[in-house]
Amino acid sequence: MKLDLLAIGVHPDDVELSCSGTLINELKRGKKAGILDLTQGELGTRGTMETRYAESAAATKILGVQVRENLRMRDGFFRNDEEHQMQLIRAIRKYQPEIVLANALNDRHPDHGRAGHLIADACFLSGLIKIETTGDDGKPQQKWRPRYILHYLQDWFHEPDLIIDISDVFEQRMKAIEAYTTQFYNPQTGDDGPQTYISSPDFLDAITGRARMLGKRIGVKYGEGYISEKKIGISNLDALIQVET
Ligand SMILES: [Zn+2]
Repeated sequence: MKLDLLAIGVHPDDVELSCSGTLINELKRGKKAGILDLTQGELGTRGTMETRYAESAAATKILGVQVRENLRMRDGFFRNDEEHQMQLIRAIRKYQPEIVLANALNDRHPDHGRAGHLIADACFLSGLIKIETTGDDGKPQQKWRPRYILHYLQDWFHEPDLIIDISDVFEQRMKAIEAYTTQFYNPQTGDDGPQTYISSPDFLDAITGRARMLGKRIGVKYGEGYISEKKIGISNLDALIQVET
């Protein structure tokens, strides 16, 4: 299935936490979007692989993306090497996305930065005709290079190159995040189990605060920020948000 937009995250909740507002926005505009998880998040302190799959399925339903696939790389130990690049190239050629949303290039969790570079490298290599791959059906795949890679902001703040207005879909975005009940604080289920950096009520407050702060920068309520190594071109000025800041 050809997609307009492919959001890639190394851990199953990365996409929901950082770029799901943009995904919902585009889906509401009739675009086709999918999510690719690189690992199953098996090193996460809280929950099990089974609970993470169930949570991820629930979040996927809330977002309404057309497809979600897990590449089952090793959480914490995958590398940006030929083997992993080839695995990702096959997925990029399978979905032929115009735009890829990817992990940050530098962040608190070392997996995030490594994945950000792995995704960027694979997107480039995927456009080279002499790299031959076969699809799930055993047939040769066409070369494919996404037009843009937008790296979403994760834990560490980086000055974004682009901020997208997600005010209209903010509640749906938070519902998708809250579907990860074992990972984040949930007032309904209480809180047993080991506490982590992301399991306190403060963490979800910080997620909201980040979106609010980015929204304020462009004169709307909530925003999501992206970094692009390539300059972003727009076809006309209608794409600019017409608000006073
Ligand atoms: Zn992560």
